Amino acid sequence: MPNAVLSPDELGPTICVGEILVEIVATTVGDGFRAAQPLVGPYPSGAPAIFIDQCGRIGGRAAMIGAVGDDDFGRVNLERLRADGVDVSAVTIDRDYPTGSAFVRYRASGARDFVYNIATSAASRFGWDDAVAAVVGRAGHVHIMGTALTMPSAGAVIAQAVDIIKTRGGTLSVDPNLRKELRVDARIERQFAELVAKADLLLPSGDELERAAGVAGETPALRRLFELGVKEIVLKRGAEGATCFSRDGSRLDAPAFVVDEVDPTGAGDCFGGAYVACRRLGMGVEQALTYAAAAGARNVTVRGPMEGAGTRAELDAFVAATPRR
Ligand code: ATP
Ligand code: MG
Repeated sequence: MPNAVLSPDELGPTICVGEILVEIVATTVGDGFRAAQPLVGPYPSGAPAIFIDQCGRIGGRAAMIGAVGDDDFGRVNLERLRADGVDVSAVTIDRDYPTGSAFVRYRASGARDFVYNIATSAASRFGWDDAVAAVVGRAGHVHIMGTALTMPSAGAVIAQAVDIIKTRGGTLSVDPNLRKELRVDARIERQFAELVAKADLLLPSGDELERAAGVAGETPALRRLFELGVKEIVLKRGAEGATCFSRDGSRLDAPAFVVDEVDPTGAGDCFGGAYVACRRLGMGVEQALTYAAAAGARNVTVRGPMEGAGTRAELDAFVAATPRR
């Protein structure tokens, strides 16, 4: 397939670099954590980990680069990733720092309050080593989440991995995923812009499209990104569905599946993991979008950030049983 947007799965696994966390979720709706309250978890989490888990679950070759502590929160993550077919040989087990964590509680408005421990946890303490070099050396695709760039050591691994993988004919996808709570400095902005310019596939949601392009308005933003060399852009719109824009000017809308949303966290990451895996397995845009929309929708029906990630068979059953808007 000379015009394929992403490298084929046979070239080597999709890798994702970044934070691996546990998530602990308040079971009541309200404002934050300043009183004792019921909680449920630990759930395996971290946007890059959710992405790679869904990628593996649906049948794509997948490997993760990151770090966990030598504790049960780390083991929860490693066991889940392994069970879903993800190569964890390049996940460092940090003897000195605990696994990263995020406590989350929903407000009545749907907004979320978080208590994070990422910067001072194992999650952000990994760098280039022999195990990382080995996985990167046989990888066929790398997916980057904007959140991972906020960790300086991850930023360095990402820069090196992208160069090596692109040099060997691999491809790059970028999910901006830059939540407004994240502090973004000039270094991060520069690396983010460099990655967008090198990306084959971009997976923004909402106003991240214009942010990635640095241009206001959907049409000018798309034009700018295609000028930079991006080949395909899939815009995620939550319960409104998603749209794929191709370089030749064509667009394909994927209506959302109608579901009861229990926990919106991880929808975008599951969507991305499924989309990238399906495209690399040779599917066209329409079929890949259907699996991606199903993966995102199915994941929001279950509490926990990656608890609803689906296998190919689970997603086929979900598609057959669920109406679309
Ligand atoms: P995240 O909050 O994980 O960062 P995101 O903003 O990157 O998410 P969304 O647009 O929220 O991504 O979700 C990705 C896709 O998942 C949507 O395009 C849609 O196909 C599906 N999806 C998400 N939420 C729902 C929902 N409530 N109902 C149906 N489908 C949904
Ligand atoms: Mg997102």
